[in-house]
Amino acid sequence: MQHDIERVLYHRDEIAERVRSVGERIAKDLEASSSLSDEIILVPILTGAIVFLADLIRYLPHKLRIGVLSVRSYDGRTTESKDIALRGDIPQNLQGKHVIVVDDILDTGKTLNLVSTIIREQNPASLRTCVLMRKIVEDRPLLAADYIGFDIPNEFVVGYGLDYDDYYRNLPDIVTLRPEAL
Ligand code: 5GP
Ligand code: MG
Repeated sequence: MQHDIERVLYHRDEIAERVRSVGERIAKDLEASSSLSDEIILVPILTGAIVFLADLIRYLPHKLRIGVLSVRSYDGRTTESKDIALRGDIPQNLQGKHVIVVDDILDTGKTLNLVSTIIREQNPASLRTCVLMRKIVEDRPLLAADYIGFDIPNEFVVGYGLDYDDYYRNLPDIVTLRPEAL
């Protein structure tokens, strides 16, 4: 696995530092916008968001739940966003709750758009989006999310939960792969 790595984009220490700052911001905002009796639910988009989510929730000292959501956003081997669809169950009973959708990367925005639309139908008290990374692509308008860990160049990255053909999720750093590995 190590010899497939081309370049380390973000070392684990830098990721940890950034996740902490995002987590603390979310915690502060929740403090300000919700009361003790309010229900908070984090909705991670599987599978890429799991490592990020696991680290992030440990900065949130609130009483909260997790409702996972699975989206097929690309066909294993490429990043080109094809048509995306939900897979499996959608978290239910979100009405009146504070929902935070958590994803690994915001690229074309199709995934977050679809998920947000579906969640909004349930009338949550609030809906926020949190992504570890946002891709910056030339000649494309900047997409918005409420919390963004890193703005990254338009490169294919793996590690810290992100995969290529379902591999490399266990790499502690966020890296690019050598062309031979792709
Ligand atoms: P969007 O729907 O915003 O175009 O795509 C977001 C999804 O595409 C992410 O949840 C992620 O699964 C996948 N994706 C986009 N860029 C990358 C990348 O550089 N590496 C990996 N591993 N997945 C990516
Ligand atoms: Mg994804």
